[in-house]
Amino acid sequence: MSKILIIAAMADVELNYLISNLEDCKIEKTNLCKFYIGKIYEKEIILCDSKVGLINAAAATTIAIEKYQPDYIINQGCAGGFGRNIHKSDIVVGTECINITSIMTKFKKEGEGYSLDDWELINYLAGEKDRLVPQKASDKLIKMIRQMEDTYIEGKIHYGVIGSGDIWNKECDRIIYLNKKYGILCEDMEGIAIYTVANQYKIPAIDIRVISDNEILKEEYDRNISINIQKFTMNLLKEIF
Ligand code: SAH
Repeated sequence: MSKILIIAAMADVELNYLISNLEDCKIEKTNLCKFYIGKIYEKEIILCDSKVGLINAAAATTIAIEKYQPDYIINQGCAGGFGRNIHKSDIVVGTECINITSIMTKFKKEGEGYSLDDWELINYLAGEKDRLVPQKASDKLIKMIRQMEDTYIEGKIHYGVIGSGDIWNKECDRIIYLNKKYGILCEDMEGIAIYTVANQYKIPAIDIRVISDNEILKEEYDRNISINIQKFTMNLLKEIF
């Protein structure tokens, strides 16, 4: 029987429904994050309240893996839509993740100013050359999602790149640039951290996000929309054995 780790950054809206469905719930706290351990659909589930941002997410994922050795990792929550066809309430399945706050700037001498358009995204992963290396999701989990995607009727499901960083972009031109140049469908603040750690440990992982806001479409942030992704996650759990 699989052990499944589910990580969310904002427990009050991204984990509350899952917590209420957890049987025989036991709570464990660390200095950094909080775990709710129990069962859903007879499966062993570890819910992790990681808190917001890349550092919290990386730390929480590492602690969870070392403590519980999960077979699968699901990162779920809300995200900001980057494409004109990505609406509030749609879901983005992150087939890969890139770090949008890991940057090398071009050399410019004093007085030459600075330009965001010249900033190149790269990774600083140990042993890697300084270049952009996307972290991939588990093909097995993507396949399982394709099998149950019809259960979602509140919006469309998109598959593609999620951009993560310690940033909330609100400049429409910057958002359009990141969408065009890197194919980013939505932005969150945890996905790349969780993929990077999970991939180092060779544990299948997936980042699934419900769109809570889209600046280009003037669709305002609604954090309560995360109930949709929690229900979607519940349905996904039925596919995992
Ligand atoms: N203080 C606010 C926002 C918290 S940070 C609140 O409590 O509601 C936003 C969280 O939602 C992060 O975990 C991030 O992953 C996600 N998120 C949703 N929309 C986002 C966007 N447009 N840009 C970046 N992160 C976003």
